Amino acid sequence: MVSRIIQVPSFDLVVFGATGDLAQRKIFPALYGRLLAGQMPSNAKVIGIARQDISTNKFRMLVRKSLDVYFQLSSVSDKLINSFLQCFVYVSVDANSDKNWDLVRSELRPDKIRAFYLSVAPELFDKLAAKIFAKGLSTENSRIVVEKPLGSNEKSAKALNGMLRNYFKEGQIYRIDHYLGKETVQNLMALRFSNVLFEPLWNSKFIDHVQITVSEKIGVQGRGAYYNKTGALKDMVQNHIMQLLCLTAMEPPSQFVSDLVRDEKLKVIKSLGTVSELDIVTGQYWENSSENFFRDVGDQNTKVESYVALKVSVNNLRWSGTPFYLRTGKKMRDQVSEIAIIFKEISHSIFDDQKAKARNKLIIRLQPNDGITLKTNIKDPGLGGMRITSVPLDMTFAEALDINRYKVANAYERLIMDVIRGDQTLFMRGDEVEEAWKWIDNISRQISSNQIPDRYASYSSGPESSDLLLDRDGRKWRSIK
Ligand code: NAD
Repeated sequence: MVSRIIQVPSFDLVVFGATGDLAQRKIFPALYGRLLAGQMPSNAKVIGIARQDISTNKFRMLVRKSLDVYFQLSSVSDKLINSFLQCFVYVSVDANSDKNWDLVRSELRPDKIRAFYLSVAPELFDKLAAKIFAKGLSTENSRIVVEKPLGSNEKSAKALNGMLRNYFKEGQIYRIDHYLGKETVQNLMALRFSNVLFEPLWNSKFIDHVQITVSEKIGVQGRGAYYNKTGALKDMVQNHIMQLLCLTAMEPPSQFVSDLVRDEKLKVIKSLGTVSELDIVTGQYWENSSENFFRDVGDQNTKVESYVALKVSVNNLRWSGTPFYLRTGKKMRDQVSEIAIIFKEISHSIFDDQKAKARNKLIIRLQPNDGITLKTNIKDPGLGGMRITSVPLDMTFAEALDINRYKVANAYERLIMDVIRGDQTLFMRGDEVEEAWKWIDNISRQISSNQIPDRYASYSSGPESSDLLLDRDGRKWRSIK
């Protein structure tokens, strides 16, 4: 299968925070990925901006270094890399100062799509958006790109949206949740809405429950101070898991266009039931007295959670009676991101073998090995009567699509190209973000007033109390390998 490249118009991409981790590790390698795919317009320009006083040459060397990490550049011609690096220029600007903004303006071309990517701490969003506006850098054809954290509660999310809308129209604001750029996440929509097979069964009549898991093996790493103000609920559930929940639960939009898709996601968030204290489990990882969550966040008394599990109801006709169990945690046994659709037992089995009652399961894997598994029951091969066994119909995209020939774009590649193209389908709208925070705020209040997180062993499946959350409903979490 050959990947189809749809060309994008030429652009000026202004990356604030261009020397930082996100820019160097994700944004610039994504652009290079698009160059390799043949999608990067030859006269595109990237204007890197940060506080450091460095030359364009030094900046290009930084970009080259980060590309070395992600691509085996030795296998690519120097000519290609050098022409790619020629697209990059650097201007030193401090968001708090008026200096050098005229240099930024002089780099911008009047006839090009303009995108301002705020790859900086959120405290700088306000200052930068105001400066972009005040210095007359923004045009009708401009977009602004921001990324999590988009507020820390409903109030701050509203303030952020209000601030952005002072300078940009909603149609110019691109709020990235990189989960939406993942191949499998979009495949969830393709699977649901382009196969006659699934949609008739996609409701509480046939689906017993849904499990959404995002587990990480890493701890809080160097982000201890940030994490101690955030926790698993706000860091992962409000954004990434919420998006997975929305795409799983939403009604089909009448067309695959941005506002119609986002309208349907918003309806799901508005249908989420209030989560009771009994349906929330929190935890903190613990290896030993010197290796633990408390040390990692630098706070011996912290009540912030490194793990959260929730039982959630979607209160509408389609999902009434089908719970969604969500969990995410750090220092878990393995790195897993998946949506598991667990179907109901067959209502009447004609076979003696109880295994014929094994539930069908549809597992949508984001990682590892992006793909889809459908657990089905078949006859155990051979003689000896009608014995039934459960087997997976397994499709790993890498194999099914022959990954050597079909390079699946990473999430940032797709999302940056969508920004240039002006397609907001895979970006969160302001009202979605606010509504998600509103729902999270209620859970967050309960966690801070009622919950003392349970301890769980590092590299385990989370706290025992999390198993009880499902046990009491006669269900079990899928194992984290
Ligand atoms: P970072 O600290 O590595 O980089 C920050 C960048 O901002 C640097 O280039 C720095 O020079 C620049 N900067 C700082 N103060 C400035 C000022 N006053 N004026 C101009 N430039 C200034 O941060 P990061 O990890 O790249 O993250 C950037 C943003 O993206 C943060 O909001 C973060 O939460 C978010 N984010 C990061 C990641 C990631 O993988 N790193 C993932 C998701 C979201």
